[in-house]
Amino acid sequence: MQDKPVALVSGANKGIGLQIAKDLAAHGFTVLVGSRNLEKGETAAKSIGADARALQLDVTNQDSISAAAERTRSELGRLDVLVNNAGISHVGQPGRPLEEIGKSGRPSVASLDEVRAVFETNVFGVIAVTQAMLPLLREAPAARIVNVSSGSGSLTLNADPTNSHREMFGAVYSPSKTALNAITLAFAIELESTGIKVNAVCPGFTATDLNNFEGTGTVEQAARHPVRLALLDEDGPTGTFSNERRQLPW
Ligand code: NDP
Repeated sequence: MQDKPVALVSGANKGIGLQIAKDLAAHGFTVLVGSRNLEKGETAAKSIGADARALQLDVTNQDSISAAAERTRSELGRLDVLVNNAGISHVGQPGRPLEEIGKSGRPSVASLDEVRAVFETNVFGVIAVTQAMLPLLREAPAARIVNVSSGSGSLTLNADPTNSHREMFGAVYSPSKTALNAITLAFAIELESTGIKVNAVCPGFTATDLNNFEGTGTVEQAARHPVRLALLDEDGPTGTFSNERRQLPW
């Protein structure tokens, strides 16, 4: 087992995940750059430097998840931080305008295949990856799990008629993040006595492929809060949902 702590970030070949991986490497972690396309992961790992290595990880594929867990154990022997960052807002190529994503997600017209595919990645993928990595995380002295969620999944915020963004609360992406929040809380409750802290974070509306670069924040800003949660000390919270500025209502 190596002395340096190890962090795994899913979907780290680009966007917010890549920046989280860069920041964790700068904080002294060996970073596993999870990427469903190994080549893209290798390119991303190279851009981070010697403290990063690519790990093939498709969060919707159980064989890929099991192989990633085995490789982590055999090559590094430890895992201290898991950032479940991989996520999709819709099915298809990047470049779909946000307005169109919103319209096609309306519950009266949403494609059930799309609902299933988005939940497969954003919810079931997180459960599967967390389950596979937990044996390693349980052996770490102070493991942390960070689930990259979204304020758009908050039922409380979206039930408020004064919320001008609530028309984006459709049947696809937002409820997948609502479910992710529920899963976060469930893991936090089960793992409370182990000292493993599990928190959900909203990185803020960020310019990435996910929203056709219509987001207003940078990936540098977006990575800050997830990284803070990954570095929580012993007194830090578990089972929370927050963004950089405040606790968010579930
Ligand atoms: P990007 O589209 O830039 O990055 C998404 C990452 O997830 C990519 O690396 C992508 O890989 C990966 N991914 C998708 N499906 C899978 C899969 N099955 N297995 C493994 N990796 C997968 O988006 P962001 O960086 O914006 O998104 C990161 C997280 O932040 C997501 O969970 C998103 O929901 C959340 N978020 C983003 C916000 C924003 O405004 N951007 C706001 C709130 C939350 P590939 O390159 O192969 O497609």
